[in-house]
Amino acid sequence: MRVVKVTVYKANILLVAPFRIALGVTEVAENFFVRIETDEGIHGWGEGSPFPAIVGETQRICLAAARDMARLLIGKDPLDIEARLREISSFLPHNTTARSAFDMALYDILGKAAGLPLYRLFGGSPRELFTDDTIGIDDPAAMAEKAVKFKEEGFRAIKVKLGTTPEEDIERVRRIREAIGSDIPIRVDANQGWDRNAAIKALRGIEDLGVQYCEQPVAAGDLAAMRAVREKTQIPIMADESLFDVHDALELIRAEACDYLNIKLSKSGGLHMALKIAAVAEAARMGCMVGCMSETRLALTAAAHLAAARPIVRFTDLDSALTHTVDPIVGGMEYGEGGRITLPEGPGLGAEVDPAFLKKCESFTVS
Ligand code: MG
Repeated sequence: MRVVKVTVYKANILLVAPFRIALGVTEVAENFFVRIETDEGIHGWGEGSPFPAIVGETQRICLAAARDMARLLIGKDPLDIEARLREISSFLPHNTTARSAFDMALYDILGKAAGLPLYRLFGGSPRELFTDDTIGIDDPAAMAEKAVKFKEEGFRAIKVKLGTTPEEDIERVRRIREAIGSDIPIRVDANQGWDRNAAIKALRGIEDLGVQYCEQPVAAGDLAAMRAVREKTQIPIMADESLFDVHDALELIRAEACDYLNIKLSKSGGLHMALKIAAVAEAARMGCMVGCMSETRLALTAAAHLAAARPIVRFTDLDSALTHTVDPIVGGMEYGEGGRITLPEGPGLGAEVDPAFLKKCESFTVS
């Protein structure tokens, strides 16, 4: 099998409302799709959703990188994923979000060639997954109101964005807990918004409020501060922006800097590396979450296949498509009652991008 054509689509998707986290405000998901075609009539789809302040890539950077990555693939065997990804990552060793879209499309082709959905290809079973739903930073009353809505919709966990000041953040979680009662966990995410002392103060202030864990309390590169915060609070710490690849996972584990790892395909460069992170996490007996940036249901389907295939993935945070005004995906993972995620049974990802949506997108082809 040979790659004969790669088409890259620029995909802008307006959010239902601006979404604020400690790193900034998102109003439009500036994503892109990659379609890889082979000489045997099989094609694969991938998607990237770059979050610039985390991955150092914008949509424009991804589109430029994708043009060069596509050239590396033409004429080559898409089933030799190890070799293809090695070529791509030795050409651009960072650019994880651009790389993840190609990784995903290659796995889609592999699954279609094998006639298996990806979670089966990875040796997994169709286990039950539930996503949380996330509340962006806002004033405490507005956040509490949204939490009540999510609880009424049946979500089994609510994720809350924090990372301004300890006083405001404690007030946010306190108001949310008062509004929703005590029966579902709250997960918090500071997105690096605190320094060491602020993190300790904020987390101690919410320790009695049923907080399941806190993502990335302090700067991504400061593992010493993460460890210090972890030692000073009972709330488990989850590494997110600190974790891109398997080497980061090993370093975080060795530094005893966290209790959990948040795997995202846009940081790991796709499924290939994500599976390695899950293996290292399993060796360390460290639970993982599979999370998202602002992907459509296409990349979320890839993430859900990964989550289903690896029981070390204990939490799923795959809610981004719920915030979009448009759903351009046909097939793929579906949201059910209370955040239940159902995986498709078709081969590969089991998801396609709607041709009617693609007609409106700028695109280019490399062949
Ligand atoms: Mg996070």
